[in-house]
Amino acid sequence: MSIAENIAQVKQDIRLNEKRFERDMDSVRLLAVSKTKPISDLEEAYQAGQRLFGENYVQEAVDKHLQLAAYQDIEWHFIGPIQSNKSRQIAETMAWVHTIDREKIARRLSEQRPSQLPDLNVLIQVNISDEDSKSGIRLENLMPMVELIRSLPNLRLRGLMAIPAPQVTEADQMQVYQPLKQAFETLKAKDQDIDTLSIGMSGDLSAAIASGSTMVRVGTAIFGERAYTHKD
Ligand SMILES: *Cc1c(COP(=O)(O)O)cnc(C)c1O
Repeated sequence: MSIAENIAQVKQDIRLNEKRFERDMDSVRLLAVSKTKPISDLEEAYQAGQRLFGENYVQEAVDKHLQLAAYQDIEWHFIGPIQSNKSRQIAETMAWVHTIDREKIARRLSEQRPSQLPDLNVLIQVNISDEDSKSGIRLENLMPMVELIRSLPNLRLRGLMAIPAPQVTEADQMQVYQPLKQAFETLKAKDQDIDTLSIGMSGDLSAAIASGSTMVRVGTAIFGERAYTHKD
C-alpha cells in the first residue's frame, strides 16, 4: 500500500475509534512519525494532506525542517529525548515538543526560543509504566513541573504525553492509561490552554483513543517498518 493509502486507512481507524468510544468526531489529530524515513516519504505524506510530522533525532529533525522549508504549513513536533546541548536547535525550529521531563530542559527551551516565533507548544512526558524507564516524570511529581512551565516565557503548556510499556490486550493498555487520563482531565478542567493528550502509536490506537488521546503518533502504520535506528 502507498503512503497515501496508509494515511487514509489510519484516519479511518481513528474515526471508527472516535465513534466506538463516543469521542467527538475529529477530536484526535494524527501526527505522522517520520523518523529515519527519507524526505520523499514526507513529501508523499504531505501531498496526501498530512501536515503534522514528528521527529525523534535532533539533527535529522533540523535537516528535514530545512529541506521542507517551502512547505510552510507543516507543523513540526519533536518527540525524542532531549540532550541539553541540543535544546537550542529544537527551540529554533520546532512548533511543538512532547518530551519535557526535566526542569533544566524547560528553562533552556524557554530562554532559547526566538522571540519572533510563536510560543513553543510543550507537553510534559509522564512515566506511567511501573518499570523504571529513564524518560518521563512520575505523576506524583507532575504539579511542580506544570507550575514551572507556566512561569516560563516563550513556552505554552498544552498537555501531557506518554510512551507506555507495551501490553498484550486492549483492556490492559487502557488500564495503564487510566491514571494519565485522570491527570489530564484534572489539568484541563483548570486551564484552557491544556487541550492535548499525546498517546497512541501504531500498536495501541484504540486503547489510546478510549483513554482520551487527542493526538496519536503513528509511524509504522503510515511509512512501514523502519529499516534501521540511529542516534544523533
Ligand atoms: C517511533 C515513535 C512513535 C511511532 O511508533 P510506531 O510504532 O512506528 O507507530 C511514536 N512515538 C514515539 C515517541 C516514537 O519514538
